[in-house]
Amino acid sequence: AEEKSLHFIEQIIEDSLASGFPQENLRFRFPPEPNGYLHIGHAKSICLNFGLGLKYNAPVNLRFDDTNPAKEEQEYVDAIKEDLLWLGFQWSEELYSSDYFQQLYDWAVAMIKNGKAYIDSQSSEAMAIQKGTPTQPGVDGPFRNRSVEENLTLFEGMKNGDFPEGSHVLRAKIDMASTNMLMRDPLMYRILHRHHHRTGNDWNIYPMYDYAHGESDYIEHISHSICTLEFVMHRELYDWFLDQIYPESSSQSNDVDKVRPHQYEFARLNLNYTVMSKRKLLQLVQENRVNGWDDPRMPTISGLRRRGYTAASIRKFCESIGVAKRENVIDVSLLDFCLREDLNKKAPRVMAVLDPIKLVITNYPEGKEEFLDAENNQEEEAAGFRKVPFSRELYIEREDFLEVAPAKFFRLSIGNEVRLKNAYIIKAEKVIKDSDGNSIEIHATYDTDSLSGSGSEASKRKVAGTLHWVAIKHAVEAEVRLYDRLFIDEAPDSHKEKNFLDFMNSNSLQTVKGFVEPSLATAIAGDHFQFQRLGYFTVDKDTTNSKLVFNKTVGLKDAWEE
Ligand code: ATP
Ligand code: MG
Ligand code: MG
Repeated sequence: AEEKSLHFIEQIIEDSLASGFPQENLRFRFPPEPNGYLHIGHAKSICLNFGLGLKYNAPVNLRFDDTNPAKEEQEYVDAIKEDLLWLGFQWSEELYSSDYFQQLYDWAVAMIKNGKAYIDSQSSEAMAIQKGTPTQPGVDGPFRNRSVEENLTLFEGMKNGDFPEGSHVLRAKIDMASTNMLMRDPLMYRILHRHHHRTGNDWNIYPMYDYAHGESDYIEHISHSICTLEFVMHRELYDWFLDQIYPESSSQSNDVDKVRPHQYEFARLNLNYTVMSKRKLLQLVQENRVNGWDDPRMPTISGLRRRGYTAASIRKFCESIGVAKRENVIDVSLLDFCLREDLNKKAPRVMAVLDPIKLVITNYPEGKEEFLDAENNQEEEAAGFRKVPFSRELYIEREDFLEVAPAKFFRLSIGNEVRLKNAYIIKAEKVIKDSDGNSIEIHATYDTDSLSGSGSEASKRKVAGTLHWVAIKHAVEAEVRLYDRLFIDEAPDSHKEKNFLDFMNSNSLQTVKGFVEPSLATAIAGDHFQFQRLGYFTVDKDTTNSKLVFNKTVGLKDAWEE
């Protein structure tokens, strides 16, 4: 097997193992906030954390970071779990930051008692001014030196719901002159009179991310708490909060109950031609600019799945982009490359005609039908063969016929021959047109000896091209949804004067009526196929017993590169 070089987080882990950290104390977590569906960016973090879990045989917790009841919902919790399992990862424990609300509160009380936290009752505007700027130190506010007793009484009152939202906050007492703005007495708790999806109306105060996250890591004995680069400046605060509850702060303990978590930052995934913030994706959903979180044009895991992306292709993509410390933008065509590679191996080849024109083989007996052998996947011998019906009247693709062939037209034209895939060589003899001059029916003759695979001399004749087709009598009608990029700009959310919505592609969905070979009549949602010469398609969940619906997943080649 090919030896893969270690990425920087693996290197950090290898180093600590080499210096005596016990492998059985390695522990990771994936910490989504249940305020939206997972997107392809999350997949990078998932593959990283769960990949480390697999590599080091270490537990990976699924921790819902549910500290903001204003935005979080059970629907999102359920969707996140479904997407993780579909991606192929199993967490060791399903945990919630809200499980720790009482412990976090108790630690906050202890910090107040130690003079490390206080209640500030200024307006948020006043606090912002008092906080200073990156070039100017902040100043101590008027409530900074409240007595411990007063702080404890107010904090309890906040908890009990005695005060309106915005009237008080709990702040850590650190250093208003710190060069790191985040260390200038950051908020620990705010009042929110909100129903929480798990704790109901138990709490009127909710902890801030910076306070909750590290302490939750500590509670779960997470050894390596991995997040994206935006959190580099938060690390000092992460460590400060841990110092308050972890007395032996300077030394790493190897006792699993005392493992001190450390935060490590890697570059987030940025992809071109899309937006990835959950806030923006939510806006697309709420304003009905797409058909839900799993719209096949969305960069969500559920959208990609519905579009026909495979879990293996997403994992492969995450592996090929690597894990590094420098931000960059990945071309979305890399994801499609990984997808084609996977579908090429997995997707059975079938025939479908999406823009049909009728073809009559005039020397093929009326009423006759044959069931011809068709190979399911030439890349995969074990995939075997199926039967496709052939008869006198067929559909071929309208663009595969031109009355008069221009140079290098390797398709059908009057007087010229092509092969019908898995069937015979035909020659077009004449075309019938409507009163507007549009071709409506092609008449052709076939070479009776030319059946593919028959071994006859005629079957080995070389002709200009090979076309896909379906027999009209046996074909099954299907709705086929063709997609294009949702945004026409490479970086839709990077423009100062314009909103990302200004760059939506108005032609990102086109629905056509096509005909597919009868073997597809029993296909079920999620099945993948290659429609020969057209691309990869998957059966959509809108499919019913009486109606087949397909999504175009991706073309056979990268159309954008041509
Ligand atoms: P968004 O900005 O889309 O709301 P988020 O970071 O707020 O994303 P979380 O639910 O908090 O969303 O993310 C869970 C985990 O996924 C975090 O550890 C976060 O760092 C990681 N993550 C989110 N977006 C990306 C991305 N684009 N690339 C890599 N990791 C990401
Ligand atoms: Mg977050
Ligand atoms: Mg967020």
